[in-house]
Amino acid sequence: MSGWVHRHVIDLSAFSTDDFATVLELAQRFRSLPVVGARRLPALQGRLMTTLFFEASTRTRSSFELAAKRLSADVQSFLPGSSSLAKGESLLDTARTYVAMGANVLVVRHSCAGVPQILAEHLDRGPERVSVLNAGDGLHSHPSQGLLDLFTLARHFQPDAPSPAALRGRRIVIVGDVLHSRVARSNLWALSACGAEVVLCGPPTLLPDCFADFLAAPPPGQVGDPVPDRIPVRLVRRLEEALPGADAVMTLRLQKERMHQHLLTSLESYHRSYGLSHERLALCGRPVPVLHPGPVNRGVELAGALLDDPERSLVEEQVRNGIPVRMALLYLLATESGV
Ligand code: ASP
Repeated sequence: MSGWVHRHVIDLSAFSTDDFATVLELAQRFRSLPVVGARRLPALQGRLMTTLFFEASTRTRSSFELAAKRLSADVQSFLPGSSSLAKGESLLDTARTYVAMGANVLVVRHSCAGVPQILAEHLDRGPERVSVLNAGDGLHSHPSQGLLDLFTLARHFQPDAPSPAALRGRRIVIVGDVLHSRVARSNLWALSACGAEVVLCGPPTLLPDCFADFLAAPPPGQVGDPVPDRIPVRLVRRLEEALPGADAVMTLRLQKERMHQHLLTSLESYHRSYGLSHERLALCGRPVPVLHPGPVNRGVELAGALLDDPERSLVEEQVRNGIPVRMALLYLLATESGV
């Protein structure tokens, strides 16, 4: 595992192709280990992972907790509703409180972009070595989801040896509410680092033209791009034009909680134009898999019959793969970055 340099995992724009290869290889190893009853790996014994979720979560938090437990870490969860935040404690002081209790890894979700980065910068100035793992910040980034999507696709194309090479030259269509999706942004960095050709599809209100340049510049604060040869993203407005030749289709949830204007005429018309069904998927010209990060608006982004079709839908596989991918991240942070 040499070559891993990340103390924190904030944004996949900072990952090299080798970093993706390391995570995929380790996740594959963890995935193939039998989980029998309480049997666990001792790798993180004596380490404490604290989840600080300031925004709702079904999959991500439970998946991190299971991943940590399978590596024998102690797990602690912060619940904003019943915490001292309500009494006026700042976010940084809350984080410091958990560090004082011995947290080695903070897994942070927040509705504002940049919060995990700010926490990481502050904690780096303190005496303790702590890792911050971004579990979703506003519209910005959701690295563990991007990695589990990458792992799921790589395993689909190359089940025994999922690696970045499995994605090279594949055409992946991402359809829907790209504007509000941190998942889409993380997938763009991950897929392009592995040589995939990404096609984004959606209406102008949910997919502004500026996304064509998304990969041209790394985010502010990041010096350079660790991947020199990314293929530029292509924008296609009509699904009928985007699907032919696709190798996989990823659809995104309509993020109604982040839409502050009327961006759609109706959910029915959205489903007619951008919803996926078996008939629509046939336009790819071959049997291709469908992914969705969840939670799904059944019948809006995906027809129920397609979501429930185990031949086409990788949605449950994504959930399953979230555990070994998060085990890989926790393992790397704890063992390679020395926290
Ligand atoms: N669960 C993912 C996220 O937290 C996707 C979604 O909510 O639509 O970003």
